[in-house]
Amino acid sequence: MMKKALITGITGQDGAYLAKFLIEKGYKVYGGFRRTSTVNFWRLEYLKIKDNPQLELVEFDLLDQGNIYRVIESIRPQEIYNLAAQSFVGVSFKQPTLTAQTTGVGVLNILECIREIDKNIRFYQASTSELFGKVREMPQKETTPFHPRSPYGVSKLFAHWTTINYRESYGIFACCGILFNHESPLRGKEFVTRKITDAVSRIKLGKQECLEIGNLNVKRDWGYAKEYVEAIYQMLQHKTPEEFVIATGKSHTIREFIEAAFECAQMKITWKGEDVDEVGVDSNGVVRVKINPKFFRPAEVNTLLGDPKKSKEILKWESKTDMKQLCDIMMRADMARNQG
Ligand code: NDP
Ligand code: GDP
Repeated sequence: MMKKALITGITGQDGAYLAKFLIEKGYKVYGGFRRTSTVNFWRLEYLKIKDNPQLELVEFDLLDQGNIYRVIESIRPQEIYNLAAQSFVGVSFKQPTLTAQTTGVGVLNILECIREIDKNIRFYQASTSELFGKVREMPQKETTPFHPRSPYGVSKLFAHWTTINYRESYGIFACCGILFNHESPLRGKEFVTRKITDAVSRIKLGKQECLEIGNLNVKRDWGYAKEYVEAIYQMLQHKTPEEFVIATGKSHTIREFIEAAFECAQMKITWKGEDVDEVGVDSNGVVRVKINPKFFRPAEVNTLLGDPKKSKEILKWESKTDMKQLCDIMMRADMARNQG
C-alpha cells in the first residue's frame, strides 16, 4: 500500500520541494492549499509536479477546524507535515493577530483533530530559528533557551510547545524541526535573499536601477531548501519523536549576500557612507544599493547561527550547499526569469 502524507502549505517553498521528494519516495501526497480568488501553483509547476497522479490537491485552511477534521478523516494519512503558516516576520508586526491565529493556534487545530481521529498519525511541525531570537548562546542548539522577537516568533513558540505537549500528553508521534533560514529559487520575493537575487539580476539586465534594503549587518545561517526538506522527512521516520536543529553551521551578513549576488552578475560593489546613509556603488560610481528604513523591524534578530551536530550524528543529515553556491543557484534562476 502506498504511504499517504498530507502536506499543509503545498503552495509554499518547502511544500513544493517536500511534495516532489515524497512523490519520488513513492508516496501519495495530499497537498493542502487555501482557497483564494486566484490560487497560485507556480512552484508546483516549476518543479513539474502539479499534474503528477501521485499528488492530489485538497482545500485546507489552518483557521477552519471543521475543514481540517474532514480533510484528515477522509484521507487518513500516516504522516502530516505542517508547513502552512503566515511565515513572514515583517508582516507579523503588521498582522499580529492573524499570525497568532494561523501560525500559532492553527497548529493546535490540527493536533486536536489528530487526537480525535487517529493518534497514530505522525506529525511534523515547522519550527524555526526565530524561536532563538535575541540569542542566549552561540551557536544555537536544541537546548538553547528561546527568546522570540516578533509576533511570528511568539506564535511559532506556542506551536512548538503545543506540539511537544500533545506528544507528552497523548503519546502522539509529534516533533518539531528547528530549521534555520533556507532559501532557493522558490523563495518568496519578500524574503531578503530572493529580494536581493531578483533585484541584482534586474540591475544587471538594465531593468532596475537600485536595490532598497533594510539592516545590512544582521547575520543569518542560510541553507538550501531542497536539502532541508530531506531532513524534515528523516525526522518523521526516526524511531522517536525529537527536536532537531537543521542548519549549515555558518552565518553571513546581508551585506555579504549582496556582494555575492553582484559577484555572480560580474559586478563589484563598494560601500560608502554610514548608517542609513550608507550606499553600495558599482565600478562606474552608480548607486546600486541604498538603505530604506521602512525595511527595519521594530525588534530585530541580529545573529543566527545553528549547531547542526545532533542532526548530523543522529539523522546523518548535513547541509551541502554554502552561501555562495546558494546565491549562485538563485542568481542563475532569476537571471533566466528576468531575461524573458
Ligand atoms: P511559505 O511562506 O513559502 O509558505 C507558507 C504556506 O502556508 C503557503 O502555502 C501558504 O499558502 C500557507 N498558508 C498561509 N496561511 C494559511 C492558512 N491560513 N491555511 C492554510 N495554509 C496557509 O513558507 P516556507 O515554505 O518557506 O516555509 C514552510 C514552513 O516552515 C512555514 O511554517 C515557515 O514558517 C517555516 N519555516 C521556514 C523557514 C524558511 O527559512 N523558509 C525557516 C524556519 C521555519 P498561500 O500560498 O495561500 O499563501
Ligand atoms: P527572517 O529571518 O525569517 O526574518 O527572513 P528574512 O529573509 O525576511 O529576513 C532576514 C533578515 O534580513 C532580517 O534580519 C531582516 O531584518 C533583514 N533584512 C534587511 N533588509 C531586508 C529587506 O529589505 N527585506 C527583508 N525581508 N529582510 C531584510
